[in-house]
Amino acid sequence: TYIVTDNCVACKYTDCVEVCPVDCFYEGENMLVIHPDECIDCGVCEPECPADAIRPDTEPDMEKWVEFNRKYSEQW
Ligand code: SF4
Repeated sequence: TYIVTDNCVACKYTDCVEVCPVDCFYEGENMLVIHPDECIDCGVCEPECPADAIRPDTEPDMEKWVEFNRKYSEQW
């Protein structure tokens, strides 16, 4: 699963949303988020992000970001 981190705040690009094959990006309060259960881990979005905000959840200390992404993906 890939998730969006706070580098996304104030970024105006949506290139990541356009390339995602399963449309699992959602609008958070001031940044985009990825639904961690809908993401199929394809990795296509990561190189599209100019802010380097999209990270795999296998990196250290990503647990809080997974929960954050889940919370804002499910608010709709
Ligand atoms: Fe979408 Fe693939 Fe990025 Fe997951 S890794 S959010 S499925 S583009």
